[in-house]
Amino acid sequence: MDYISLAKENFMHTYSTQELCIDHADGVRVYGTDGKCYLDMVAGIAVNALGYNNKAIKDRVEEVMNDGFFHVSNLYYNKWAPQAASRLNRLSGGSEVFFANSGAEANEAALKAARKYGSRTGISKVISFEHSFHGRTYGAITLTGQEKYHKGFSPMVPDIVYAEYNNLESVKALADESVCAIILEPVQGEGGIIPAEIGFLKGVRKIADERDLILIFDCVQCGLGRTGRNFAFEHYGVKPDIMTLAKAIGCGLPLSATVAFEKAEGIFSPGDHASTFGGNALSTALSLVLFDALEGGLSSEVEKKGEYFKKGLEEIKRKHPDKCSAARGLGLMLGLDLKVKPADVIARCRERGLLVCSAGYTVLRFVPPLVIDYTDIDEALAIVDGVLSEI
Ligand SMILES: *Cc1c(COP(=O)(O)O)cnc(C)c1O
Repeated sequence: MDYISLAKENFMHTYSTQELCIDHADGVRVYGTDGKCYLDMVAGIAVNALGYNNKAIKDRVEEVMNDGFFHVSNLYYNKWAPQAASRLNRLSGGSEVFFANSGAEANEAALKAARKYGSRTGISKVISFEHSFHGRTYGAITLTGQEKYHKGFSPMVPDIVYAEYNNLESVKALADESVCAIILEPVQGEGGIIPAEIGFLKGVRKIADERDLILIFDCVQCGLGRTGRNFAFEHYGVKPDIMTLAKAIGCGLPLSATVAFEKAEGIFSPGDHASTFGGNALSTALSLVLFDALEGGLSSEVEKKGEYFKKGLEEIKRKHPDKCSAARGLGLMLGLDLKVKPADVIARCRERGLLVCSAGYTVLRFVPPLVIDYTDIDEALAIVDGVLSEI
């Protein structure tokens, strides 16, 4: 069957999907219905942390399946979500978890919690950042500090303003008495793989402490081992009041979490927020497989592999100074800033059996499964080098 034509005829046209339909996958490789094999540096956009055809994941799916249900709603408990919340709190230092299904929803919950906190004193303004990305629902796109996502969809959610990332003075200039919260990604993902500077993040924490603001870290992409720490903020020694997670947390199933730390405990009362599917048995059962891996030391492996990968990207940058301007990132959340169009490089890499994606307008993004081998990294680097030599 021609799945691609079927999709084009029947989907709303919201994506610029590439001409590739995945048939099956194993380890760090996916196989197209075209019969070709691809080394995957995209991992479902930083989702498939434990790789494909993973035995622990398949065993857990079977275990849940044998109970005869995946979902019961939040009118009742299931066996898995309570364990997932407790493991997540232990891993992160948080104290309360709300489960939903996507990164956008996790940020909506964080935004509502921050505004509820502000409602005690009648304030509602939230500071977000330029080049940020927080999702596509109305609250989340408004938090997203990129004009292109707002165009055509006005009016946005009121009372959200944007400071310049890594510029503490611009935060100070906006942080007046009407502000109840600040939201940022410790490493900006979609905006172009831009890590926060340590002085900036510590400075934002200080402002939040002095003014009693809720500091929200959107760790949807940079959380859960991706940057070589369990959570990106651990690189900085700075903790949030609320953290949001999604992408990798459900091992490929839709799951997200909004984690409240001490200051943000107890903001929501029964009835304040809800999600039909949030915390369903199957996705939370799978999250435990990832937590097992993180408790088993996955992040330190990621840190070593990430350093190796980044060195390779820096070498490529030196070798092609006319085509690359920078290599940056943390752990296995890496970007190669290009002076040529990423779309062309991405297409040529795909022809050579490598899946990569872009971030921002100019950055080639590498977010492979965290279980990738050094030899896979070498292979990816060689393909990117070859493509840059050819264009
Ligand atoms: C992907 C992403 C989101 C949105 O997640 P969805 O699951 O697509 O709603 C939010 N924040 C960050 C930092 C992301 O990378």
